[in-house]
Amino acid sequence: DQLFSRANMVTKVESAAELVARAVSTFRDQYGEKPTVAVCGPGRVNLIGEHTDYNEGFVFPMALPMVTVVVGRRTDTGVCRVLTTAQDADEPKQVEFPVPSTDHPLQPGKPAWANYVKGVVANFKGEVSLFDAVLASSVPLGGGLSSSASLEVATYTFLEQLNPQHSPVSLKEKALACQKAEHEFPGMPCGIMDQFISVMGKEGHALLLDCRSMAAELVPLDNPDVVVMVTNSNVRHELTGSEYPTRRRQCEQAAGILAKNSLREASMEDLEAQESKLEPVVFRRARHVIGEIRRTTEAADALRARDYAKFGKLMVESHNSLRDDYEVSCAELDTLVSAAMECTGVYGSRMTGGGFGGCTVTLLSATAVQDTISHIKEKYTGQPTFYITTPAAGASVLQV
Ligand code: ADP
Repeated sequence: DQLFSRANMVTKVESAAELVARAVSTFRDQYGEKPTVAVCGPGRVNLIGEHTDYNEGFVFPMALPMVTVVVGRRTDTGVCRVLTTAQDADEPKQVEFPVPSTDHPLQPGKPAWANYVKGVVANFKGEVSLFDAVLASSVPLGGGLSSSASLEVATYTFLEQLNPQHSPVSLKEKALACQKAEHEFPGMPCGIMDQFISVMGKEGHALLLDCRSMAAELVPLDNPDVVVMVTNSNVRHELTGSEYPTRRRQCEQAAGILAKNSLREASMEDLEAQESKLEPVVFRRARHVIGEIRRTTEAADALRARDYAKFGKLMVESHNSLRDDYEVSCAELDTLVSAAMECTGVYGSRMTGGGFGGCTVTLLSATAVQDTISHIKEKYTGQPTFYITTPAAGASVLQV
């Protein structure tokens, strides 16, 4: 608590219970009744394994204590009504839509935020009854901590609770239905990481996810002396929009020249043997991906052994590779990482997410938090926000 009082050093995260209370109060004002169901789905941060998902590699995220809450109840009004309390969502904050039928399927549209909800309704495995719902979230919207997947997974969990007689699907099917929702409605061709971790996260654990087989393994990260600090640079460099597709194409090109289905199947030796056949930039992109996939499995080994120093070293190697070979970092992220690494008690730090802004993730001793934040604030000229976190649970049902 001392942390929060000291001049706004760490962002205080609203608890799930506080979010529920706020959502219930809004629900009563708006719909004049008490909701019967409350659920939540968490945001996430990726500890290591960046730009590996679309190369069939490994990722290693954990669920965050920041969540999206959905409260609501069944109705017979003839439409579904959803209201978001998120300030940053586009207008209008309330939408109405009919339950989809074969003759009248749901369509994406405006406002943009409602597409995440509609996409899940359209992809729910089971019958959807009419409902009213209110959303409240502690995941910053568009901050790279996957507020979108947390909303999808919370919505799916809400629909499950609304229909007690529905036959439950596996966690994997649930995550895949939410991923499909994001592909079809907001139209984002995302990988499987965000929805899988938001569904499968477990308190005190990170999740090693194989993006080829979709196998998921929980690995303990439960030492009370170790915390994960998420630092939002609060910058986002608007690029041409071609950066991501270009990287993907370069990876496919490298895999093709190496005669592999994906870079997951290539070793560093394979790559080096073919160096002369690859454009230098394509070679470096592939070197990042192949190295990063190996680092991610090594990081999982290190975490199983509770070797935080080793884990941290791999995080820094990941950052350097993203900066130099994959070229998706930026000056702000580099400053946040190097400032963190100058502090005692910091095991490792790296950019997390797609890059060109957004957040860094830092593994550090709980006792080092205050000094590290002070030092970063001295070195970083922008306005960073800090979240002190430990791995949280996946989607769950809450007391309404
Ligand atoms: P990220 O998932 O990293 O936060 P995205 O740009 O992928 O960023 O998704 C953010 C979008 O998700 C928001 O612009 C909004 O449309 C939607 N969204 C997320 N949380 C909420 C919420 N609580 N209420 C309404 N819309 C939300």
